[in-house]
Amino acid sequence: MTTIFNFSAGPAVLPKEVLQQAAAEMLDWHGSGMSVMEMSHRGAEFMSIIAAAQSDLRELLAVPENYKILFLQGGGLGENAIVPMNLMGRKPQPATADFIHTGSWTGKSIKEAQKYGKVNIAASAESIGFTAVPARDSWKLSKDAAYVHLCTNETIDGVEYQFTPEVGFDTGDAPIVADMSSHILSRVIDVSKYGVIFGGAQKNIGPAGLTIVIVREDLLGHALPCCPSAFDWKIVADNDSMYNTPPTYAIYIAGLVFQWLKRQGGVAAIEQKNIAKAKLLYDYLDATDFYENRIAKDCRSRMNVPFYLKNEALNAEFLAAAKARGLLQLKGHKSVGGMRASIYNAMPIEGVQALLAFMQDFAQQNS
Ligand SMILES: *Cc1c(COP(=O)(O)O)cnc(C)c1O
Repeated sequence: MTTIFNFSAGPAVLPKEVLQQAAAEMLDWHGSGMSVMEMSHRGAEFMSIIAAAQSDLRELLAVPENYKILFLQGGGLGENAIVPMNLMGRKPQPATADFIHTGSWTGKSIKEAQKYGKVNIAASAESIGFTAVPARDSWKLSKDAAYVHLCTNETIDGVEYQFTPEVGFDTGDAPIVADMSSHILSRVIDVSKYGVIFGGAQKNIGPAGLTIVIVREDLLGHALPCCPSAFDWKIVADNDSMYNTPPTYAIYIAGLVFQWLKRQGGVAAIEQKNIAKAKLLYDYLDATDFYENRIAKDCRSRMNVPFYLKNEALNAEFLAAAKARGLLQLKGHKSVGGMRASIYNAMPIEGVQALLAFMQDFAQQNS
């Protein structure tokens, strides 16, 4: 098999060890004679898989006791509707949600939330081309919002919160809802600062189809009447994520990734590796005249590194030459163009070093 490095933004690279273990267990999980895909979600075997996945995730993120971990379907975009359906009901109707608009993903969240309540854009980085997170002291939060929505890592724009967002006593009891789809488990976070954390699995956790929701218990039980039962967090929590059939195989793979992450030393250890990986690329991008990154230095994403060739006429040649060296899926999102290297937890530093060496060679050959 040829060695490649996969820089896809998602679905994305998974740890090789995890894929090898899944392959070895594919036809017969632990002597059960069955593939995990074929098991009843209520059988003892799968119940042990989901219980381990949940407790490993709780341990990795130090999720406090008064938070539920839910395994859902619907992806990050599904949550854009599921969040307002579950939280707008905390306040008299029509309720308002505050948004910190930092790029493509919050843009989609804002549009969807408008179907279920009022939206207040408390701060926006649109006028600066989504190159930074608006400073906390510029946020114009509502007095009585049902919640404050933000995206702590904008996957397309390459903008990441490098501070823990907090809402003050002056803004009432609005909980922070954070879309962490593309950097969950990449850095240490203080879960207690958030009301809800959600993320699609396909960036840093496992296969597409699984969505993780971590929700503080007092936020359960406020669903609007229009909310489908399968997406009512209280119903899902009361049924241990088994109200409907959960995405069983995706949960199994996520569980293997959690075990892999524990073997790496947990989130604090992987965060150090992620800092080192990102530094390699950003240091070079800042030093070269051939490429550029346009994001404010204190808001740069460690997971998704967008960059442009100063001479964009070379884009196609860059991508073809990268592919020939086994460096795959480097094309930037069509809405922003250029290139993007997604370097999630499962990307080894060797992959980043190979990319850096290639970028240097390509710059030298074309200067
Ligand atoms: C990928 C992504 C999503 C969308 O996930 P889907 O599973 O495609 O719905 C939402 N938010 C962020 C930040 C993402 O990176």
